[in-house]
Amino acid sequence: MIASDLEALAQTHGLSLLGGFHTDARDMSHFPENTQSLLLFGPMLQHFWPLFIESPEWNDGDPDPMDRWSIRNISAMAQSVGGQALFPFGGPPFLPFYSWALQSGRAWESPVKLLVHDRQGLWLSYRGAIALPYRYDLPPPTKRPCESCADKPCLNACPTQALVLGHYDVPACRAFLKTDLGTGCLSQGCTVRRACSVTLSCARVEGHSAYHMGVFNR
Ligand code: SF4
Ligand code: SF4
Repeated sequence: MIASDLEALAQTHGLSLLGGFHTDARDMSHFPENTQSLLLFGPMLQHFWPLFIESPEWNDGDPDPMDRWSIRNISAMAQSVGGQALFPFGGPPFLPFYSWALQSGRAWESPVKLLVHDRQGLWLSYRGAIALPYRYDLPPPTKRPCESCADKPCLNACPTQALVLGHYDVPACRAFLKTDLGTGCLSQGCTVRRACSVTLSCARVEGHSAYHMGVFNR
């Protein structure tokens, strides 16, 4: 298989190529030897969940179904293009996906500190990366959407002010989720993420959001 088919292959798994970068002159300590390009993959917001809930990992009742799904599918993708799969879970230690996201030129720190993506807004999440021993033809970097977001609705969306400018009060968020008022966040996803002006144009399947909120709220 040739690498140019990788994006199409990812889409058959409900995954999207969310960015990447070349490793020229970078600290290579976190990359496999000879890595030249690193590609970041995350769920397609509408297509991932219906595929995932048909998978053996979702249906076998064992723990961490999404992580196990990611390992199986992204490892297979990597193998088919001569690369190596890397994952944001399984630590500590954890690989520096946050830093890699920033280096991709497609994701930035938002006013509420969460990563914001040019196409997925505050829904952004990564299921894995593929390190390639050759250069992959990457699209040019884009612009941080927050620069042109006049009202910045993310700053005032949290109903309990747990997630505000530059600060996330995790205990306050967890306490809110245990109240009746937390139902909206639990069933549809974090209200701050949903309020992002980029996110508004790219809804995520509610079951997918509810799954992550359920894991967070255990
Ligand atoms: S999940 Fe709800 S309470 Fe928690 S930070 Fe998001 S909006 Fe606030
Ligand atoms: S609501 Fe606007 S300022 Fe906030 S993360 Fe989204 S694009 Fe950036």
